[in-house]
Amino acid sequence: MNDHLIYLDYAATTPAAPEVIAAMQSCLGADGMFANPSSVHLAGRRSAAVVDRAREQLATLLQTRPDQLIFTSGATESDNLAIRGAAMARAGQGRHLVTMKTEHKAVTDSFRHLEKEGFEVTWLLPGSDGLLTMESLKSALRNDTQLVSIMHVNNETGVIQNIHSIGSLCRERGILFHTDAAQSVGKLGFDLDDLPVDLLSLTAHKFYGPQGVGALYIADRPGTAIFPILFGGGQERRIRPGTLPVHLICGIGAAAELAIAERSKNLERVTALRARLMSALEDVDGIMINGDPDVAYPGILNLSVDDVDGESLMLALEPLCVASGSACNSANVEPSHVLKALGRSDSESEAAVRFSFGRTTAKDEVDQAAALYRGAIDKLRGLAPAA
Ligand SMILES: *Cc1c(COP(=O)(O)O)cnc(C)c1O
Repeated sequence: MNDHLIYLDYAATTPAAPEVIAAMQSCLGADGMFANPSSVHLAGRRSAAVVDRAREQLATLLQTRPDQLIFTSGATESDNLAIRGAAMARAGQGRHLVTMKTEHKAVTDSFRHLEKEGFEVTWLLPGSDGLLTMESLKSALRNDTQLVSIMHVNNETGVIQNIHSIGSLCRERGILFHTDAAQSVGKLGFDLDDLPVDLLSLTAHKFYGPQGVGALYIADRPGTAIFPILFGGGQERRIRPGTLPVHLICGIGAAAELAIAERSKNLERVTALRARLMSALEDVDGIMINGDPDVAYPGILNLSVDDVDGESLMLALEPLCVASGSACNSANVEPSHVLKALGRSDSESEAAVRFSFGRTTAKDEVDQAAALYRGAIDKLRGLAPAA
């Protein structure tokens, strides 16, 4: 990228890895695997073989069977399809659904929409550490509860929910369990065949694949059938019709293969980088870590201070590319709904900064980021000498 930028926003998106770009290039153009994989001719069958291979690569990463994976356009669509599809398929049995306030907007807005259509949603809050307690989940479940959706790794704080315990409880009660795993797939180890998860959303561009492709895992067990949200051809077992983007699917397969090879090494790397950043900033006056760092994916570190303006902070941090604690919804800036749910004030939420590390992040970039953050805070507090 532009060399003068320091990019520490890998939780927002990652650059496609060179291996991924090469794989996608082999699909594009007249000499590539461009044919429609639904076509029965030889070119179509070659494209279909590329799709089959990618599905196998992704299944290997998740440690599950490829026939349980449906390709989509990304985690937003997978979340919508899982939540709306499950709610609609089970509406005759009950209309109560459970989720958390700290979910990604793709999840919260799917549930808001269902509320408008007569479904009842219980919105659970985490503790100040960001974690859901099993007691609060238990007390929310009812006889007519059909679906629970709780994300794996939080995109703002990195906090990891215990999807094994949550899923086990749901399974005991015959309730479907969906998890948005957009931030954990390719980063944390998965053994989906051993996890009590019915529906799982993921997206390629969070683990060095291209934007615009993702998948929904649907466990092959009784009661997991969901309704589609798109209608058309018979692709993806009619659950997600539309001509398959062979180059993107080839890209997610290559990204999965890369993740299998690099995952443990990357986890070690980002753990060391986060520790380095934390120790460089721990003596900044009034600094707070958002979410319990001991129960978090270490590739994300979210910090707040309480006495500087969030927007001014973002500007003062340039050329550092990090995420702010506010979301821009059209014209107005709103403090992060996730940090507010953890009990942070509006100003603490707005002044939050999310640092996220990637497979090529160097120690030197972390050191520069720490210096820029320190300098920006001093400047805004009027402590720095006038430049
Ligand atoms: C990025 C992200 C999404 C959205 O993924 P898209 O591929 O952009 O649709 C959903 N959930 C979480 C937790 C994410 O981090």
